[in-house]
Amino acid sequence: MGFGIVAAFGFAPESGLPADPPQLIARDLQRPLLAALSSEGGYWREERIQRGDTLGSVLSRLGVQDPAAELFLRSDSRARTLYQLRPGKPVRVKFDDDGHLVALRYLAQGGELLDVSRDSDAFVAQLAAPTADLRLELRAGEIRSSLFAASDAIGLPDAITIQLADIFSGDIDFYHDLRRGDRFTVVYEMRELDGTAIGAGRILAAEFVNKGITFRAFLWHARDGGEAYYAEDGKSLRKAFMRSPVEFTRITSGFSLARFHPFLQTWRAHKGVDFAAPTGTPVRASGDGRVAFAGSQNGYGNVVSLQHSGAYSTLYAHLSRFGAGVRPGVHVAQGDIIGYVGQTGWATGPHLHYEFRVNNEQRDPLTIALPDALPVSAAERVSYLERVVPLAAELALSRGLILAGAE
Ligand SMILES: [Zn+2]
Repeated sequence: MGFGIVAAFGFAPESGLPADPPQLIARDLQRPLLAALSSEGGYWREERIQRGDTLGSVLSRLGVQDPAAELFLRSDSRARTLYQLRPGKPVRVKFDDDGHLVALRYLAQGGELLDVSRDSDAFVAQLAAPTADLRLELRAGEIRSSLFAASDAIGLPDAITIQLADIFSGDIDFYHDLRRGDRFTVVYEMRELDGTAIGAGRILAAEFVNKGITFRAFLWHARDGGEAYYAEDGKSLRKAFMRSPVEFTRITSGFSLARFHPFLQTWRAHKGVDFAAPTGTPVRASGDGRVAFAGSQNGYGNVVSLQHSGAYSTLYAHLSRFGAGVRPGVHVAQGDIIGYVGQTGWATGPHLHYEFRVNNEQRDPLTIALPDALPVSAAERVSYLERVVPLAAELALSRGLILAGAE
């Protein structure tokens, strides 16, 4: 299950999106990815140091046959940092057709980068602070049990999984809507220091196929400096309301609804949606609004209700406690924490009971059509579509290739 595709995208900093129709290089992700992604041209190879390695054994595994280079590495005072051979650390070399070393990189103890290069017949070794590189990765997964299980199976960082759920939170309720067989593809930034990943960046493009419906999201930097996710047609992914007001985490994603009042599971039966989550899980305002009520009310227990623009209001019940400063009259923005999951009132287990009302009448938030935020501006629409259309096709194609490779 270690297959994936790494995208050698040209990167256009002003747009957030890959500049050219992306060229995809299929690779087994078990292998080091660096060689294919080096921006300097030439051929790099990488080996991880193993326990018991000597400099000679590492170089020979890398395919370097160069006595002059070995002599230099053994004698130069800076190059000798390489002798602190730490198991698991990568050594990267570049060599010519005759097996002669052209360059070598190694991240030494203390965080300095050893950079050895050959200048005609002489070698030069330098130690310097390394700079972080930004690399793009493309991975695809399929839901079998939970989103986090699917992410783990393809090595997706948690920060990216949470961003993915957040980006599609206006269209997909990640608590109730996920189905076995749902698929996703994501292009994201990874920061790395000489080949070692040091952190996830932003998602640049993503696709989520939920119950047979395909959603796509693309990060776009507007000329006015704003940055947001938009669908293939330029509509905003940000909705006036999120589908789920409960913060999506590794823990909540595995929490089962089956533990309490299963006979109330359909929306019709109790005019609300239940989100099972551990006590203390943050509950967020699903849309911008004003606190209409925050207090205790019989069966609801600790409850917050919000008045939104238009005829919309929302209600959050069984809270263990309220968010800081949440009291009637206070304005809240979408995503603000208004309370924490609990089981106050008539609740047989910790969960959030959530109601969505139009003209004070409960409606099913999972099916109601909700107003969108503003689309990509008319002036930028053509350049947006030029970027996004080929990329959308590539996302769908990659998903097919990767998942076929993983079967
Ligand atoms: Zn309920």
